[in-house]
Amino acid sequence: MPGEIPENLSEVRSRIAAACIGAGRDVGGVELIAVSKTFPVESIREAYEAGQRVFGESRQQEAQPKIDALSGSIRWHFIGRVQRNKVRKLLPSFSVIHAVDSFRLAAYMDEVAGELCVSPQVFLQVNLAGEESKGGFEPGDLIAEMEGILALKRVEVIGLMCIPPAEDEAEESRKWFVAMREFRDRLERDFSVRLPSLSMGMSGDYVVAVEEGATHVRVGSSIFGRRAYRVDGELG
Ligand SMILES: *Cc1c(COP(=O)(O)O)cnc(C)c1O
Repeated sequence: MPGEIPENLSEVRSRIAAACIGAGRDVGGVELIAVSKTFPVESIREAYEAGQRVFGESRQQEAQPKIDALSGSIRWHFIGRVQRNKVRKLLPSFSVIHAVDSFRLAAYMDEVAGELCVSPQVFLQVNLAGEESKGGFEPGDLIAEMEGILALKRVEVIGLMCIPPAEDEAEESRKWFVAMREFRDRLERDFSVRLPSLSMGMSGDYVVAVEEGATHVRVGSSIFGRRAYRVDGELG
């Protein structure tokens, strides 16, 4: 009998595959990030043994001991809010940073990346609904800062990330995912740049996100179960 985590993982993977096929997308075009925040090393190991290699964490202090305890073949994504004073610790451990939300942060990251000789891939977080409680660029601000961000040497912008407003039904999130994709398309045109990646979709709505073009889905509770405590002001 497989345990709960391997079973959940295979369920999530098949729903992603079905959504890809339904949308005429390549099944290999979606990266599943297993969000392990609040869960112990043993849970991560169970998922690893079921073939999962990409994990997401949202707090540096919580993540580092897990990263140190586990094998080097895991790719870690940092999906939480980035504090400037944590950048130096984040860059060596995480290959992808999802929530870059200001030019100032991106520029600082670029400087530290130069010192550490690393080239982080980053998503720019967009706050489409203008929610006060959440980070992210207002779309207009991002347009104004884009030139400067793209000129950074070390930081490689691979796309956009969002945490849209919580909706009761997954279907209601579709409009946010469509808006993200359209905004990405606009930036690509206006700045003659490729932004191939879209980090969007969580346990409640990743199927809809994949249908609308997500390349990275961040799924926690549907894999690991309910979280016992909240991690930050935004997400449970
Ligand atoms: C916790 C978290 C997730 C995963 O949420 P689930 O609803 O458990 O899938 C995704 N993205 C971010 C930014 C998170 O903080």
